[in-house]
Amino acid sequence: MGKFYGGNFQAIQEYFQQKFCRFCSNPFTSEGIELLREEPGILVVRVGCSVCGRPLGVAIVGTGPKTGQTKQKSPFDWSKRDNEKFANQPAITYDDVLAAHEFFSGLGPDWSKHLPRTGRSTGS
Ligand SMILES: [Zn+2]
Repeated sequence: MGKFYGGNFQAIQEYFQQKFCRFCSNPFTSEGIELLREEPGILVVRVGCSVCGRPLGVAIVGTGPKTGQTKQKSPFDWSKRDNEKFANQPAITYDDVLAAHEFFSGLGPDWSKHLPRTGRSTGS
């Protein structure tokens, strides 16, 4: 059950490990990347710097098929190549994380209803 999400979470970790803390310029490590929540088709992760302890923010990451239409059909088993593809796609970006952080900061406990529908596409 956790295999599907676990694979994507690992991809997210690998994605952020290619990024660098904007405060201390050290790369993020897997210890600084925490899985906050799993929703169908969405992972919510909190990213922080394990070196200087400063938080980067919260990222909402679409993981593929979910209830409703999905634009892209991501394979459930993320391979190394998929991870690289994942990193090159605008699924999540540094700016998105910062935006998500701002987004989250103004939400209450019922934030999940405000989750952006990552699978949204114009041509249902
Ligand atoms: Zn840092």
